[in-house]
Amino acid sequence: MSKVYLFREFDRLTAAAALLLAKAFDPKKELLVKMHFGEPGNKAALTPDDIAPIIGALNQLAIRPTLFDTPVAYNSPRNSVEGYRKVVKQRGYNELAPCIISDDFVEIEAKDFVVQAAKPLAEAEQVLVISHVKGHYCSGFGGAIKNLAMGGVTKKTKSVEHTLGKPKWVDDCEGCGLCAKQCPSKAIKMMDGKAVINLEKCWGCSICEVNCPSLAPQVALFDDLLGQAAVAVIHKMSPKTYYINIIKNVAKFCDCDADGGAIVARDVGMLFSDDPVAIDCASIDLINQAEGKDVFKEANFKDPKLQVDFAAKYLGQKQKDYLLQ
Ligand code: SF4
Ligand code: SF4
Repeated sequence: MSKVYLFREFDRLTAAAALLLAKAFDPKKELLVKMHFGEPGNKAALTPDDIAPIIGALNQLAIRPTLFDTPVAYNSPRNSVEGYRKVVKQRGYNELAPCIISDDFVEIEAKDFVVQAAKPLAEAEQVLVISHVKGHYCSGFGGAIKNLAMGGVTKKTKSVEHTLGKPKWVDDCEGCGLCAKQCPSKAIKMMDGKAVINLEKCWGCSICEVNCPSLAPQVALFDDLLGQAAVAVIHKMSPKTYYINIIKNVAKFCDCDADGGAIVARDVGMLFSDDPVAIDCASIDLINQAEGKDVFKEANFKDPKLQVDFAAKYLGQKQKDYLLQ
């Protein structure tokens, strides 16, 4: 059973946490850290101060990591390599470690589409995936799986994931109006007692499909596509890959947005694991235990474990149990 280690401290790494990194990584090999450097304006996104204790601990182990992310597909200062480099500099990450932004890729065939996995991730000798745990408009929740599924692929693959998830509407609508209320892109309107979708405005999140009382999904769910993409990237990465999830400033929306929205859960700590499925499951469970409710389902109308279930399926993991230490 996979182990997940919880450390409550944010401002330093304990000796036990540093020992986990020492066991995970070889100081003689290069280490790439998969990051999300944050959309300008987002007040909940991770900052260099949040990452500094981890980088400091790696430096103590004589490991000099390089930080990495990919440009985004939507309208943002981060949607080009050059633009994202400027954001990284403005946010002060260059002072912590060398930073790379790249849209270069290697291709891998997934069940429903060809995934362009980030070339630096595929070529790195060792990888540390640092993920900020928070909500997301489309997937409900973002952790390690989401960080690789969207953040570890090219702009083109990001767009494909959103496009393939667009629902195929069939004519069995009961007119309950739920989808029009929950659609994050306001793509659905009720007309003559039936839901009418504007596919041009649709983000392909599948929220309407998973919650509709009368229509069965006709296409692969967004969460399924995320699972496929994450596992494609994982299969391309070195077996020496390790994961840290930071449960701090748990906002309703993602670090991708200029406005992360309200904080929906209290800070919990940092989780360490070599298993992306286990670390995301533990993150969701710890947050729900702390708040006494299904935080992301309530905030974003999506079961946060749906994407994790699909990733587990494509990884061939029969059970998602983990041992929290
Ligand atoms: S949730 Fe389903 S039944 Fe309700 S309005 Fe939307 S499409 Fe119709
Ligand atoms: S998939 Fe459905 S809920 Fe999501 S953006 Fe498109 S229409 Fe709206």
